[in-house]
Amino acid sequence: MNGSKHTASFVPLFIASFLCALCLAVSCHAQEDKRILLLNSYNMNLSWTASVTNGVKAELSALGPSVRLYVEFMDTKNFLEDRYLDLLKQQYRLKYGDVHFDAIITSDDDAARFALKYRDELFNSAPIVFCGVNDMAFPARDDFKNSTGVLELTDIAGTLDSALRLQPNLKNIYIITDQSTTSRIKRKEIQHISKDYGDRLGFIWLDDMSMDEIRKTVSNLPNNSAILLVLFTSDSHGHTFTFTESLVRIYSVANSPIYGMWDFYLGNGIVGGMITSGHVQGEMAVELAAEILNGKKADDIPVILQRSNQYMFDYAVMKQFNINPDLVPDNSLVINMPESIYIKYKFEVWTILCVFALLTGVIIILLINKAARRKAEHELEELTRYQESLIEERTHELVARSSQLEKANYELKKLDTLKTGVLNTVSHDLRTPLTSVLGFCKIIDRDFKKFFLPVCSMNEKLGERGDRIRDNLGIIEDEGGRLIRLINDFLDLSKIESEEMVWNDISLSPALFLEQIRPILQGYFVDSNVSFVLRIKSNLPRIFIDRDRLLQVLTNLVGNAVKFTQEGTVSVIADMTEGRWLRITVEDSGIGIPLEELSNVFEKFYQVNRDSEAVVIDRGSGMGLAISKQIVNHYGGTLKVFSEKGKGSSFILTVPPGR
Ligand code: ADP
Repeated sequence: MNGSKHTASFVPLFIASFLCALCLAVSCHAQEDKRILLLNSYNMNLSWTASVTNGVKAELSALGPSVRLYVEFMDTKNFLEDRYLDLLKQQYRLKYGDVHFDAIITSDDDAARFALKYRDELFNSAPIVFCGVNDMAFPARDDFKNSTGVLELTDIAGTLDSALRLQPNLKNIYIITDQSTTSRIKRKEIQHISKDYGDRLGFIWLDDMSMDEIRKTVSNLPNNSAILLVLFTSDSHGHTFTFTESLVRIYSVANSPIYGMWDFYLGNGIVGGMITSGHVQGEMAVELAAEILNGKKADDIPVILQRSNQYMFDYAVMKQFNINPDLVPDNSLVINMPESIYIKYKFEVWTILCVFALLTGVIIILLINKAARRKAEHELEELTRYQESLIEERTHELVARSSQLEKANYELKKLDTLKTGVLNTVSHDLRTPLTSVLGFCKIIDRDFKKFFLPVCSMNEKLGERGDRIRDNLGIIEDEGGRLIRLINDFLDLSKIESEEMVWNDISLSPALFLEQIRPILQGYFVDSNVSFVLRIKSNLPRIFIDRDRLLQVLTNLVGNAVKFTQEGTVSVIADMTEGRWLRITVEDSGIGIPLEELSNVFEKFYQVNRDSEAVVIDRGSGMGLAISKQIVNHYGGTLKVFSEKGKGSSFILTVPPGR
């Protein structure tokens, strides 16, 4: 079932495809079948013939590639005898006997006549389209049938009028013709219209002359003359010339402007005239042939009289003969016009203009930039000036302040010196009587104990009084001793600071020294719960130092350690640093120093606030550590503290090795 369904649907599809292919093939065949023969009267070297041929080819190419063009040149300007025409017939029969032409286009009179006469014999009775035919009676011939075409109507009057217009004083026009068919036709026309010009213009014929005679004549024409070159392809001596050759020869010697009627002369020496174009003739013939190809009968297409002539002039030749180019009629085509510099160098002009505009733009930008930079520089200069004045002002102020400070410093130093002097004096003055007071106090206590206390013991009341007196004497002794220590500390510090201290430096063995002062240090631990340890490492470096000052430092450190330690151990350890400096560490297991106070303990008169702590401590002067640091610093050493509240403290002094 399925298979038959498929077959059924394929049948109409196949038929449609076949019909399409057939139509395509038929249309292609039809297009390919179009053949046109272009039969030229003259040969290809004749610019007119070339112009017609080009016109035919150009117009045919617009019709598409389906039309094949065959081109023949009969060359009847050179050969017109019957023998030659018979040969041509034989040739064409051989070539085109089997070819079916859809149309024959002929150019000029000879080809038109030949085609009309031998069409049935040579060209399968193909329809004829003629062009370039000057013989106006041609379409009236008896054998004119199945034909149409373009009659070439040269506008002789238009050319003569243009000559009169360009040369207002023109008197005579010399007409050059040959014996060709076209020339004979044109001669008749000119003779006919010459009557219209009456006395205004004389017509002088230069025909049946040799080229040399013509050249001689045109080189000696009177003033206010002009030449009308109709056609001249062969002279009276039988010499033949192309259109261009004959014009060039005549033009090279002519003393008067030459006018013409065909475009093949323009650009080769004629001034111009009402010009007929071979190219246009060819184009128009193809237009008529196209109608025949489309199925129209040639006899149904009327013969055209070509009226596409146009005024054309050569600027360069006009200039040569001093003809004012402004005199040419309106809508004229003028060739060889000097190109304006702008037209000639359009690209260069625009390039230069663009470059110029670009450069101008760049220059403007640079100028704007420069102005902006100048403005910025100016502003910067002003700012710099302002800053300099500000700095100068501030400098003056600072100098003034500095001198004020110097003055104040000087005053302060003076005051400090004065204060130190006063304090020194006061301290000395205090120490002497204080020593006496303490001495007498001891003597009184001794005498009182020896002589009065035994007597007092007899009476209970006196005994009590006696004990109280001894206690009071003890207090005086203690306080006096404290006062003397305070004064001594103060005097030491002040001597070090004022560099008045006398240093009795000697070379010292640390181990020996420490062994010698061991009893002194142990003395601090009498009546104490704290044990003392002294450890001395061997090979300690010798130091150069004042023995008493080092003792002062160590007794101060050990005294503090004992004072701030309730129980445990105070250790004095002597060893050396990696750099072989003597290092003595005084370590205790006492109450320690709060972290925030550590940096202050070496300051003068500084004492850590112990009010909150449940320890009763003998108040010192607050100068012991300050003096110790000054002494160690004097020897280039260091004194540092490490402590933790409640766990103990370590004071570490280092002294550089000495002699
Ligand atoms: P003072 O004569 O008052 O002891 P110092 O200059 O010797 O003065 O000591 C300053 C302060 O440093 C002391 O008041 C004390 O509070 C603290 N201090 C010094 N040594 C120790 C120590 N080993 N343990 C705890 N506190 C110490």
